[in-house]
Parts: sequence; C-alpha cells; structure tokens
Amino acid sequence: MQIPFPEGVIALDHGSGDISFVSHAHSDHLNGVKAKERLIASEETIALGNLPGKNETPKGVKMLDAGHILGSRQLCVEADGKKIIYTGDMRTRPSMLFKGAEVEECDKLIIESTYGDPQYKFPDCEEVYSKIGKWVNANSQSNLLIGGYALGKSQELIKILNSFGVAPVVDRNIERFNSVYEKFGVKLDRAVVGTPEAEEAMGRPFVGIVEMKRAKRYFAHRLSEAFNRKTLVAVATGWALNYRFDTDAAFVLSDHADFEDLLGYVRGTNAKEIEFVHGDGTHLQSRLAMLA
Ligand SMILES: [Zn+2]
Repeated sequence: MQIPFPEGVIALDHGSGDISFVSHAHSDHLNGVKAKERLIASEETIALGNLPGKNETPKGVKMLDAGHILGSRQLCVEADGKKIIYTGDMRTRPSMLFKGAEVEECDKLIIESTYGDPQYKFPDCEEVYSKIGKWVNANSQSNLLIGGYALGKSQELIKILNSFGVAPVVDRNIERFNSVYEKFGVKLDRAVVGTPEAEEAMGRPFVGIVEMKRAKRYFAHRLSEAFNRKTLVAVATGWALNYRFDTDAAFVLSDHADFEDLLGYVRGTNAKEIEFVHGDGTHLQSRLAMLA
C-alpha cells in the first residue's frame, strides 16, 4: 500500500516507494525497509529495527503516537487539501509504558483491521496486571517463566513485574530490545541470563521472561530438574483469549486495540473514506453503518 505525496509515493510499512514510512519495528512491518535510505520513522523505530536509513519529515507529513510499542507511530499526510491517516498496529488504551494512540480527524483513514472482529474483546490492562501480580505472589516458592514477544510485550512484562518489586531474569535476545528502551528513557529493572546478577537471582526462586517458543511445559519441566525446584510457566498475549497454550497460566495482555477500541478510534477520526488492510473490515463496516 502506498500514499501519494508531492514528491512521489510513500510506501506504508514496506520498501517499494520513493520513501518508506515504518510504523514500528515488529519484523512483519520491516519488509524491504532495511534497503531504504529515506525513511519516515521515529528514532526509536530506527534503533529497534537496526535500520540504516535516516528519518526525514517531508512537507505536509507528520507522525502521531500509535501506543503499540516503543516508537510506534501513525502517519498523517496532507496534500491537495486532503488529509490521510495510516495506522499499522496500535493500542488506543494507555498502558504501563505508553499513552494510548492519538486520534485526529481526517478525510481518509487506512487502518489495519486484524482485530476488527467482535470476538476480540480484551480485558482492562489493570485487571491483567493484577492477575499477573497475584500469580507471582501465590507461587513465590517456584521458578516462574512468562513467555512474551521479545519486542514490546517483554518490556511491558518487566515493567509490570517491577511494579510488584520483582526484577525478572531475561533472555539475551530480549535484552537487545531492553537496552534500546532504556536508551530512550524507559527504566527496566532486570538481570540478563549469563551475568553474575542473573546467576545470583537464580540461586533462589526467580521470575524469568522468555520467548514464546520456550513458554511450554516441557521447558519448565527441564528447568525444574536442573534447579531441583518446581517451575511453572505462563504466556502473556492477546491470543490467550482464543487459544489454549501448553502452560500453567495464560494472561490476556495485548498491545493491540480490540474491536470496540478500533470502532471508537475510527469514529473519532470522522473519516469519510476508510480503507482496511490485513482483514476485510466487514464487521467494523457493518457496525459503523449501524451507528451512522
Ligand atoms: Zn506490531
């Protein structure tokens, strides 16, 4: 997908255009952008995605917060008297780390509608945070592993655990992103696997944050044997709403807007023209028509 602007076309989350807008640094939004010199992207996204390109702000173009992960943005382009907004992944509700996505009125909205189905109804963050806290407290004699995506979810998990006075042990591949979060002012109290701090923390029951692929009972079982201490495992993902995971607990923690959030967002933009990407937007369209 592309948006025209006075100097040519802006590619939306891919590399085929005169300049590429990169909404955020999740890998499914980085196709072809590593080869681009000209980018419209936050400094945080450039750092998290290890992008060689440089950020430019062409005339009539600005970015708005998307509330999804560090540096996530929406694109707003004004040309020929028409205002177009594009949003990739976003979260409208505030979280422990970010404010919710900014909402601006526009003529045309291009929006990802992966979660544009009424079956997606996420609980309040606070409720989920407190469930995680209760699980950690109730199992203080066991090692606890929580699986989350390395970029975004893991940092939110660290922050949640910090709020309960816990500094988790984290995998090295998660640490790469933690250090960028810290560079941009997000303080994260954690110990990295392989360091003396982590060794010390693992001498008693500890909380670890691991990648999703490791958040499985067999991995917890192996740790139970290695540490001679019971190890429980959980996941933190929006998918816990509809999928069963091979874990002892599952927390519905999403960094996306759910159906009602998307609906509220779309209505807030007052856009006359709406284009849906990643999903056909059928449910959103019919609900919007009902509300019109
Ligand atoms: Zn994303």
